[in-house]
Amino acid sequence: MNARPKKSYGQHFLHDTRYIENIVRAISPRPTDFMLEIGPGEGALTLPLLSAAGKLTAIELDTDLIPALRARAAAMGELHVIHADVLKVDFAALAHSHGVQRIRIAGNLPYYISSPILFHCVRHAAVLQDMHFMLQKEVVERMAAEPGSKVYGRLSVMLQLACRVEPLFSVPPEAFRPPPKVDSAVVRLLPIPPDERHDADPAHVHAVVKAAFAQRRKTLANALKQLLDSDAIRRADVDPKARAETLAPSDFVRLAKIYSAA
Ligand code: SAM
Repeated sequence: MNARPKKSYGQHFLHDTRYIENIVRAISPRPTDFMLEIGPGEGALTLPLLSAAGKLTAIELDTDLIPALRARAAAMGELHVIHADVLKVDFAALAHSHGVQRIRIAGNLPYYISSPILFHCVRHAAVLQDMHFMLQKEVVERMAAEPGSKVYGRLSVMLQLACRVEPLFSVPPEAFRPPPKVDSAVVRLLPIPPDERHDADPAHVHAVVKAAFAQRRKTLANALKQLLDSDAIRRADVDPKARAETLAPSDFVRLAKIYSAA
């Protein structure tokens, strides 16, 4: 408890009980849930989640924190700590090995790898029931942004194609030790059910979205010229003179399908 926080691991420990309670209330864990926490740290969220769910699996990269965490959790329930980099954990294999269909994920994420963690979760969306994450407020704004907004981009499109994005509430720097330099926010992600999910090739969606936003001030005809010509863009029912930031996520799906068919 009260270890010196490591900057290199993005450690900002939550200490304000009001926010901790609000997060746990938003998650509302039940004993039947398979709860997975990313980055339990000193256990600010782990212990109340464990006490509500009775059991919890947590993935922590920093070995130094694990013995104290296990000791504090012992009286509260069944805590299983996986010492690993979350980006190397296969959530589908984890669900399978525990005999569960779906995982509920929560975490006050290490901000230095928040986007890679989000993309990792999106790739595993089929085995996820929901996700509740603390992130930089600016990242949550980008995730939830709508077409036309200045912050609408690759993260918005990729997240919104996989999940419903629900920003919940903001959290000020003082709620953490040490305080981060930015405001934070909690977001809920609900994976889109399989029968409503798009059926385009995910690698092609990724390629089209990446190219379109790599040069967001350019027209799509220009930004996508390595992948699709203007006629192909028109066949997707998209104006080649438009810019990526004006397109809905579903427009990118149609562009990806035309790219797949080419
Ligand atoms: N949950 C705690 C809290 O709210 O006080 C700690 C949150 S702190 C922002 C992020 C946590 O993620 C730290 O405990 C850090 O060691 C851990 N972490 C950093 N990189 C990680 C990685 N690649 N995989 C798993 N955990 C990681």
